[in-house]
Amino acid sequence: MAGKNWILLGAPGAGKGTQAMRLVETFKLPQISTGDMLREERRLGTDLGKKAGEFMDKGSLVPDEVLIALIAKRLGQPDAGGGFILDGFPRTLGQAEALDRMLADKGRRIDRVIAIEVPAASIVPRITGRRSCPKCGAPYHVQFKKPKVADTCDACGTKLVQRGDDTEAAVVKRLEAYDTMTAPLFAYYQAKGNLKKVDGDGEMDAVWTRVKEAASA
Ligand code: AMP
Repeated sequence: MAGKNWILLGAPGAGKGTQAMRLVETFKLPQISTGDMLREERRLGTDLGKKAGEFMDKGSLVPDEVLIALIAKRLGQPDAGGGFILDGFPRTLGQAEALDRMLADKGRRIDRVIAIEVPAASIVPRITGRRSCPKCGAPYHVQFKKPKVADTCDACGTKLVQRGDDTEAAVVKRLEAYDTMTAPLFAYYQAKGNLKKVDGDGEMDAVWTRVKEAASA
């Protein structure tokens, strides 16, 4: 198998977070989710969190320089030395190029990009139905992955929450940002020969089988 510096690419709501959690368990790699990192900064009330929050609530991308600095720091931590799963980064060509430079400086490279593709029509209901556990992070969906007890985490019993930017208005903006800024990354990684496209439509377990195959191939 090739090296394990991996990217999960896909539209908001394509199931990146859920599949990333499974990749983490199976391949014992750290998941690096820039969305989670920014939400944590907001929760802590840091300057970075406050600045990022203004963009996030609108469904806009946070400026590249903020994300590039954040990811450079994270990739420098020891647990990322043996590989990683990037979830939600890069989202622009500028970020992808900065990432390549950052890795090249350490004699590393992106080994694989797993792109989860879902039909545009299924994205909005996927996102607006999302819920998650604020304590342990477990993901749920009001239609596709119901908890055993309504609104309650199966794993730890905490009341589930909806992300502030999972509303219809913010989702429309996030999808626009994806189409204009992030979709060009498919061609960028295709040209480098490390893009693996995965059909993200259908049951989570079926998608996982395909993601695992793409990761292992
Ligand atoms: P996510 O949880 O990945 O959907 O990210 C939530 C929000 O955080 C996005 O809508 C952006 O506002 C911001 N964000 C996360 N990752 C990035 C990134 N790589 N570039 C710019 N903004 C980002």
